[in-house]
Amino acid sequence: MIQLEQISKRYYQGKREIDAVKNVTLDVQKGEIFGIIGYSGAGKSTLIRCVNFLEQPTSGSVRINGIELEGLKRAELRAVRRRIGMIFQNFNLLSSINVFDNVAAPLQLVKTPKEAITKKVRELLDLVGLTDKEESFPHQLSGGQKQRVAIARALASDPEILLCDEATSALDPQTTESILDLLLEINRKYKITIMLITHEMHVIKKICDRVAVMENGEVVEQGTVMDIISAP
Ligand code: ADP
Ligand code: ADP
Repeated sequence: MIQLEQISKRYYQGKREIDAVKNVTLDVQKGEIFGIIGYSGAGKSTLIRCVNFLEQPTSGSVRINGIELEGLKRAELRAVRRRIGMIFQNFNLLSSINVFDNVAAPLQLVKTPKEAITKKVRELLDLVGLTDKEESFPHQLSGGQKQRVAIARALASDPEILLCDEATSALDPQTTESILDLLLEINRKYKITIMLITHEMHVIKKICDRVAVMENGEVVEQGTVMDIISAP
């Protein structure tokens, strides 16, 4: 479903070269929850952003459902991206519009009929448990509630893949648990493939099927969660 082959990403900061990701090869299967763990600066965020070409890799190949992203025309890339939802540590909600409109935004962008939007948004808010918050604005919500809105928005275009960039890192332990439970439910119910990055082993243990460990831009270990936990 997600195939990364020999992905590298080099940034330039003035004269300095930073190899944020070095020759990473990963294969995420359909329906899987795949975690990437590593310390801050390991290259996790850069790598996950390469999956939907928010960052274009310096070299290597990204294939989504067999489609090579490099060289796609803008409209073709947009079509692939619609199959990939993403959520972030800081939620990235639009603060000037309410919960309903935040979730509706991706549907309005592709000119979905109004009744269909209302139906879909209500379904999603029901899924994430925020039916009573339709009219609220982001600043009126707790962190966990904001992430639920972001999840609903990410699911609006019925993606096959959900990318989670430190999605629970800004949340307290209890809220983290409830968001992870929601991600598990979404994975099971809708067969959505999930790729997540985190610096927290308990997140990996709770929901991931397989995990890759990143250090200094490289994947240094990869396997089932049991393999990684019991590794010496
Ligand atoms: P992680 O998500 O594991 O914390 P990142 O992918 O954010 O790691 O960062 C990996 C390395 O790349 C770090 O050294 C970081 O400073 C650098 N880096 C990340 N984004 C940029 C950028 N836009 N420009 C320059 N360097 C960057
Ligand atoms: P959490 O433990 O999930 O972070 P909070 O303590 O932040 O929860 O919020 C608890 C409740 O208070 C939530 O139901 C939320 O809707 C409400 N709330 C939080 N901040 C505001 C606010 N600025 N205005 C109105 N309601 C708020």
